[in-house]
Amino acid sequence: MSSSILVVGSVALDTVETPFAKVEEVLGGAASYFSTAASLYSPVNLVAVVGTDFPQEYLEFFRRRAINLAGLQVRQGRTFRWFGRYHLDMNVRDTLDTQLGVYADFHAVIPPEYRDSSLLFLANIQPGLQQEVLDAMPRVRLSVLDSMDLWINTARPQLTEVMKRVDIMLMSEEELRLYTGCSSVVAGARQLFNLGLKYVIVKQGSYGALLFGQDGSYFSAPAYPLEEVVDPTGAGDAFAGGLLGYLSTVEPGPDGHYRFEDLKRAVVHGNILGSFVCEDFSIRRLQQLTLADVAARYQTLVACSHFDPNWLPSHSSETSTAG
Ligand code: AMP
Repeated sequence: MSSSILVVGSVALDTVETPFAKVEEVLGGAASYFSTAASLYSPVNLVAVVGTDFPQEYLEFFRRRAINLAGLQVRQGRTFRWFGRYHLDMNVRDTLDTQLGVYADFHAVIPPEYRDSSLLFLANIQPGLQQEVLDAMPRVRLSVLDSMDLWINTARPQLTEVMKRVDIMLMSEEELRLYTGCSSVVAGARQLFNLGLKYVIVKQGSYGALLFGQDGSYFSAPAYPLEEVVDPTGAGDAFAGGLLGYLSTVEPGPDGHYRFEDLKRAVVHGNILGSFVCEDFSIRRLQQLTLADVAARYQTLVACSHFDPNWLPSHSSETSTAG
């Protein structure tokens, strides 16, 4: 069984500088990373816009994957551009430039063939545009929202309206603090449930991800221990691609909702796809990736995070503490 996934978000040309290397105008954008990762599992319906300057080779790359481009508009003008610079701690980066280009006045048109997509990912883009796509897809089984500090700072009321209407919110730890004002991640996640979300997933970069459920359920997913990070750009979007990609292969429960155990596995898939993307610039590492590679990392994570559940304080240690 496999369900199709609809994504709206940025398709961009990125310039990225790390302490060790720099690339210019490579394929980037939240929707590009997401689609490349998720298409490993199931077909992806892409809603985005690029300018007439967008390189043909990247369109051909999308076409070779199971990525439907019926909802990708090519408009007169410049493609979205983003320029980021990483610190030596690559969990930290500065945005040096953002040029919306053709996104500035873009309105999504959802092709009829996209309408029965069961999973929806509202990748990082203006909340108003995310809202339009949500309006056009009232019957999706599961909706997941991502955003970033720019929209929290400049379009908070609109972003909040979108958060009230989705099932799962993805946030980095810093974004959660910025949005809620809580220094504790646990308290911040709890505050978000007042908006009606079912789950909050807190991304912690190279430290993994936390899954919080509205009912108090909780899971901490370890990060894959990468020796060398080349470029973390797109890790959050590839994370979402692994999460929704995995869920697209799972039958939900009789009530139409995914089980918590499925969500736990999905978060682990997210961490795995996020780890692969960091091994090279742009989507390069994902190009050759197979589900067998994902399965190998899955087993490593099981092995390195599973520990003996049977420990209890022994009688003798209790006695010695008491004494
Ligand atoms: P991530 O590293 O997962 O946060 O995603 C980085 C990607 O987000 C880059 O490829 C950028 O092109 C894209 N991006 C950066 N800023 C924005 C923005 N304001 N709106 C939409 N996409 C953006």
